[in-house]
Amino acid sequence: MELLKQYEAIRHKLKAYRYVMSVVGWDSQTEAPKGAFPRRADMLSVISQDVFQLATSKEYQDAVYGLYEQREELDPLMKREIERVKKGLDKQVKIPQEDYVAYNKLINLSQRVWEDAKESDDWNKFQGNLKQLVDYNRKFIRYYDLDMEDYNVLLDDFEEGMTMELYDHFFDTLRAELVPFVRKVLSEGKPLNKDITTRLFDAKKQQEFCEYLIDVFAYDRNHGLMKESVHPFTWNTHPTDVRFTTRYLEGYVFSSIFAAIHELGHATYEQQVDEKWNDTGLNGGASMGIHESQSRFYENVIGRSKAFWETHYPKFQQLFPDETADISMEDFYRNANKVEASFIRVEADELTYPMHIMIRYDIERMLFSNEIEVEDLPDVWNTKMKEYLGIEPRNHAEGVLQDVHWSAGLFGYFPTYALGSAYAAQFLHTMKQDLDLDDLVQRGDIKAINSWLKDKIHQFGRSKTPLELLQDVTGEPFNPMYYVQYLKDKYTELYL
Ligand code: ZN
Repeated sequence: MELLKQYEAIRHKLKAYRYVMSVVGWDSQTEAPKGAFPRRADMLSVISQDVFQLATSKEYQDAVYGLYEQREELDPLMKREIERVKKGLDKQVKIPQEDYVAYNKLINLSQRVWEDAKESDDWNKFQGNLKQLVDYNRKFIRYYDLDMEDYNVLLDDFEEGMTMELYDHFFDTLRAELVPFVRKVLSEGKPLNKDITTRLFDAKKQQEFCEYLIDVFAYDRNHGLMKESVHPFTWNTHPTDVRFTTRYLEGYVFSSIFAAIHELGHATYEQQVDEKWNDTGLNGGASMGIHESQSRFYENVIGRSKAFWETHYPKFQQLFPDETADISMEDFYRNANKVEASFIRVEADELTYPMHIMIRYDIERMLFSNEIEVEDLPDVWNTKMKEYLGIEPRNHAEGVLQDVHWSAGLFGYFPTYALGSAYAAQFLHTMKQDLDLDDLVQRGDIKAINSWLKDKIHQFGRSKTPLELLQDVTGEPFNPMYYVQYLKDKYTELYL
């Protein structure tokens, strides 16, 4: 088919452009000196202009819309790909090029502005940029002219098929089931014997332990590596090049450990996607939510289990003999699952974590329903913190300025984090019918777990929607009660 050839040729070119832009992106976030950014933003805007021209060219549009017309004659996977691409193209061709380029430039600059604002705890430095970012998004939604409420357009971007209605139901369930449970754990829970979460641990040795963890999780070093960055993340272009970062805080050793394990979950997923999708539009993880389910599974279900530390605590003690001299494995395990009302989402424990997401969901929902404006964010933020966790931030750096997401124009992204944990609990329920998970973890056989994940979830890339995948793996639709039950079981045993 002539149109198919035309489509595939442009798709290959676009992939090459995006590949190069990704590599510059990785460099920006790990290596590049601060002073390089204005020039970098200028150069990138030239390239993104080229990409925009190609991705909205008449030739490309003819191919995509032409194939869409004939989609019933395509094989089912190409049909799915074309439907997805058409949906994205619809959105892109409706944005004037001027706006597109200006928005990309704004995003590049905003991340630096946000970093500065956070460092100097100065909300006013960032407010103007954030307002522009929100306004662009509102403007874009008007261009798309979809028959959807504003926030639903954004939610669907990050998790196909998700709406305020579905999220409201999910978060209402969590609010009803978990808020009282969290309160009970916080007020009546057995305290830790010894708290090591504020002890000092040398950063170099932390790094050594993280390198050890890479091998524990059987990560393929030939196709991946680890670096350091302010905000840990996973980066990939295809399964043979998947990198991730962690960060070392000498006063909080669990930060580097669980960030590394979390990102290893994302990275392992990307490495295990079948390479046959490389040159298609169905490469990479299935969705944001499914991706987060894999990182949360690694971090919380495996990494914070007793079975895991029974095996790996001796190695940790060997690296830190003085710091851990008075800490038993049981103490360490309880410390790794310490529950407290805290300010920073990325440092939050597994149990209170969803409260942090609810705050962001509420704020974004109100912002894009025009119930509040950007100026209101610091106040609303602090009010919600009090409502869900009973605490109020002392400054903006530990409040409304803490996350990188909004500075990158990512609105509608946060809810997938909580969704991910809920998917993970549902997958876990099924996995336990096939595998003796505790036994494998204790024996250090993470390979067997990875191969289950590859077989059931990872290999399929984006060829299934999140809800199809969940249905295929677990045999039932999305059910948030697995998550509620998982948390209640684990934290009742630990604390009550
Ligand atoms: Zn993640």
